[in-house]
Amino acid sequence: MPTTYQGPRKSDNQPKKTVSQSTQSNFAAGTATVQNIIANKGDDVFSISPQDTLGKAVELLSEKRIGALVVTDSDSTLLGILSERDIVRKLAETPGKTLPHKVEQVMTSNVEVCTLDETLVSVLRRMTDGRFRHMPVMKDKKLVGVVTIGDVVNYRLNELEYEALQLKQLVVG
Ligand code: AMP
Repeated sequence: MPTTYQGPRKSDNQPKKTVSQSTQSNFAAGTATVQNIIANKGDDVFSISPQDTLGKAVELLSEKRIGALVVTDSDSTLLGILSERDIVRKLAETPGKTLPHKVEQVMTSNVEVCTLDETLVSVLRRMTDGRFRHMPVMKDKKLVGVVTIGDVVNYRLNELEYEALQLKQLVVG
């Protein structure tokens, strides 16, 4: 049977439709990893020894403007994490006598860590569920950085701003 000629339809010339929740934008948010943060932030890790005092920890936290220190031995093996929360708790327990205590008496030993290829969504979920804001990053059993909940939220915020700009450019041209 001969094919009947069909003239162009109105829909043929219409630009592709875009939507705010495209598969692509959702996919990008779901697959950004810890590596993306460490690449921007760098791999600085501020650490302290378990034998050091809380006095030294307080000085370091204040000087480096951070909220937690990883606790390591002389081989840089991860032994624990000490956050400002731990120090505040100890301050309430031992008013006026807190700073001479050793880090090992106050730190959390059961540390949850992540790897460079873990997604930010997964890290955020574990931090939220575990109610902590810091996560040491490991590569081949070595410490290669620390991500904070602030880093993850900031990264996602930048992504959202970028996506909004792209949408605006699509609409306004
Ligand atoms: P943060 O919210 O990180 O200041 O810490 C709140 C509490 O969780 C403190 O007792 C910390 O020692 C502990 N903590 C912080 N980070 C971790 C982590 N990655 N794994 C387990 N405990 C943690």
